[in-house]
Amino acid sequence: MPFLRDRVAFLLCFSVLGLGLLSLSSFLSGADVGDVTELEAMVICDLEVDEPPVERVERVIAARSTFQQTLLDWGFTAGAIHLLVQDVKPVYDLSRVMAGHRLAIGRVSNGAFHDLEYHIDDEEYLLVRYDSGQYVASRHPYDFQVEVEEFYGEVESSLWDTLVSQGELPQLVQALHQIFQWDIDFTAIRPGDSFKLIFEKKYLDGEFVKYGEILAVQFTSRTRALYAFLFESPQGVGYYHENGGAVRKPFLKVPFDFDPRITSGYSHSRFHPILKVRRPHLGVDYGAPVGTPVLASADGAVIFAGREGGFGNLVEIRHPNGYVTGYAHLSRIDVRSGQRVRQGERIGGVGSTGLATGPHLHYQVQDRSGREINPRELTALPSDEAVEKEDWNQFVSVRNELIGRLATISESEPFLNRISQTD
Ligand SMILES: [Zn+2]
Repeated sequence: MPFLRDRVAFLLCFSVLGLGLLSLSSFLSGADVGDVTELEAMVICDLEVDEPPVERVERVIAARSTFQQTLLDWGFTAGAIHLLVQDVKPVYDLSRVMAGHRLAIGRVSNGAFHDLEYHIDDEEYLLVRYDSGQYVASRHPYDFQVEVEEFYGEVESSLWDTLVSQGELPQLVQALHQIFQWDIDFTAIRPGDSFKLIFEKKYLDGEFVKYGEILAVQFTSRTRALYAFLFESPQGVGYYHENGGAVRKPFLKVPFDFDPRITSGYSHSRFHPILKVRRPHLGVDYGAPVGTPVLASADGAVIFAGREGGFGNLVEIRHPNGYVTGYAHLSRIDVRSGQRVRQGERIGGVGSTGLATGPHLHYQVQDRSGREINPRELTALPSDEAVEKEDWNQFVSVRNELIGRLATISESEPFLNRISQTD
């Protein structure tokens, strides 16, 4: 049995190194491994030091297969696999390996296990070696080569087309969306708008694996230039505008300039006071006197302002990140459809129009997919503070370097795979 032989050999090596030559013979007689002399022990040790050639097999774990099955296919016994999984478990649970991930095993000429490598994810891999009679596992980060690249693009039909037509992957477009979701309505980007990017690409052995960080973005439209710079301070990592303001802006906790009383919370089933039936209440009701100013909870565009059935006077605002906030039962509407509003701007007054027992604001929020979410979840969205005073000088030097670099990105680079505007 190859595993046992390995164990004896490692045991002998350990004895020589760890216990010293003098104590070896007495140790061996007690260990009952036969009449082995010091010399023989040393020879076995030498064999271990001059490692025999290792044969490697590698495969991508098949769909619906398991680690156990993969190793059975490679000729390991169920017992040996069990032992391996048990030893490795404190570091990584091999019974949970995933289809599509790479697994490689090295074996010596007699078929005995030598080592194993498993691709855990984009960031790290698992390494298992057989040492001193047991499997020793450790996790290691991949050693990427990071290259900083630059990109200039002019939007023809969409941001997506512009990046993807030049060989970039959708992940880069998504990362851009993430950064600018508070400032730019990506569905409203127009032909002629342009952007410059400084971003990282990660390579392993010369092959592109994934994107790293986007370090800086400059977005230019007819009316404005917008910057975002990645900046790391003791407070954390975030994106900031050139003036040090945070790119990620939270929604107001409540659409008022005070903390109102909640008269009815978000619920999937509540007894309706007028209709006398149970129905979902997919918003929050705030009790407040008639005429109390109602504020836009974030920057956006008014997409509805008028009468809407049981909602009475209703205002709906679409925000650049795709969320829509709704404000119902208003006594008065101060905005019109199509108008741009700033966070905190007054859009109307509390009332009891539509189906309402008394003056209150019904406030509701839809996410990007149009699904109502609990407005109180909005405050759980990440929000950043501006650059702190003590970090200001460091921020300015990072920002200035990136601005300088953005300025050197050529705007005359021809499009290599230009998509013709046929649609
Ligand atoms: Zn309500």
